[in-house]
Amino acid sequence: MSRLVMKFGGTSVATVERIRNVARHVKREVDAGREVAVVVSAMAGKTNELVAWCKEAAPLYDMKEYDAVVASGEQVTAGLLAIALQEIGVNARSWLGWQAPICTSGAHGSARIESIDGEGLIAGFGRGEVAVVAGFQGVHKESGRITTLGRGGSDTSAVALAAAIHADRCDIYTDVDGVYTTDPRVVPKARRMPRVAFEEMLEMASLGAKVLQVRSVEVAMVHKVPTYVRSSFDDPANPGEGTLICNEEDIVEAQVVTGIAFSRDEAQITLRRVADKPGVAAAVFMPLAEAGVNVDMIVQVVSEDGMTDMTFTVGSADYERAYALLTKIKDEIGFASMAGEKDVAKVSAIGIGMRSHAGVAARAFRALSERGVNIRAITTSEIKFSVLIDEAYTELAVRTLHSLYGLDAA
Ligand code: ADP
Ligand code: ASP
Ligand code: MG
Repeated sequence: MSRLVMKFGGTSVATVERIRNVARHVKREVDAGREVAVVVSAMAGKTNELVAWCKEAAPLYDMKEYDAVVASGEQVTAGLLAIALQEIGVNARSWLGWQAPICTSGAHGSARIESIDGEGLIAGFGRGEVAVVAGFQGVHKESGRITTLGRGGSDTSAVALAAAIHADRCDIYTDVDGVYTTDPRVVPKARRMPRVAFEEMLEMASLGAKVLQVRSVEVAMVHKVPTYVRSSFDDPANPGEGTLICNEEDIVEAQVVTGIAFSRDEAQITLRRVADKPGVAAAVFMPLAEAGVNVDMIVQVVSEDGMTDMTFTVGSADYERAYALLTKIKDEIGFASMAGEKDVAKVSAIGIGMRSHAGVAARAFRALSERGVNIRAITTSEIKFSVLIDEAYTELAVRTLHSLYGLDAA
């Protein structure tokens, strides 16, 4: 008998009516004779509301209690979907993270799944029962505390569960019918890709395409889980195929650039007149790393008179912390002044074809300059390049690159 994990995101379970629609998708698979585990997110907007409540209660809240609060959104939708399934004659029960259990590290707020005991769920399949699992949450066995997996984490719950119970596939249902060449909400001419390679999807997700959480793509790749992105708004009786995340070799029509991603959650910091001598980069970046601040792009200007300017980016959520820390250690590092900019965005082009083609990024720099978009920083790697620009130009830059690489739909 085939076994399937189906995941439904926040928009797909935003109301009780939509949960009923989800139940119809699940019933279709059950009627086809499959054993089904469903993973649900909280209703759209719920997690944001819960996060805001924590901040309101105390600006520097305890992350263990934050997890107890924000995990509650998924508890509601898991129970409601089980009820909706029972209502249409499908035998179902809900499972919270600690009940399965889904065991994680103790890194509250961004825990990693360490193991999943699927025995209980599998025994339920034996009784003809659909398992409705609360996504995004787990339990830290050693402390017995509830954990959450980081924003967007239900995707990872689903793929990890599929690996643990040896499901034949994992279907991620969301509010778009697959992975597009870029966010279809920003570029109406974006095209759905029938297939996308793991490596490209990893880059797209980590560079801002929030359709899948990065970690879920890693888990799918490592455990070889055939993972599809599909739409919950398709007719439950006749859904589309969606996009398959697969190995590079399984893609017939490889292109140089396959997708454009962007992120507005960036901030730039510039240190002026830093001494250009060994140990300075360590003096700047070690304390940031120790404070848990992720530094992304780094640009250092050629020095004159032994002094240089150093520019780098951090996630906008870390900006205040990074700025305050650098102010504190200003004298130890020894720089003249510091400037920060929060209204910046990172736009990236991704494609495995870049490995074998020269000049791909250079064409983008020219096209952007022709449209008056100033580039603040650039990074490149084997299968992607990114530019940092003023946030106001994000959409223009994304559309420009999307057309430039021939990705626009006819
Ligand atoms: P869910 O709540 O189902 O987890 P998300 O909002 O996390 O859904 O992810 C789906 C959204 O991702 C889409 O609505 C779309 O706007 C956005 N998105 C960004 N980049 C892409 C892309 N390349 N392809 C498809 N969707 C994308
Ligand atoms: N509800 C969580 C969030 O909004 C997890 C998820 O939707 O995947 O981040
Ligand atoms: Mg999501």
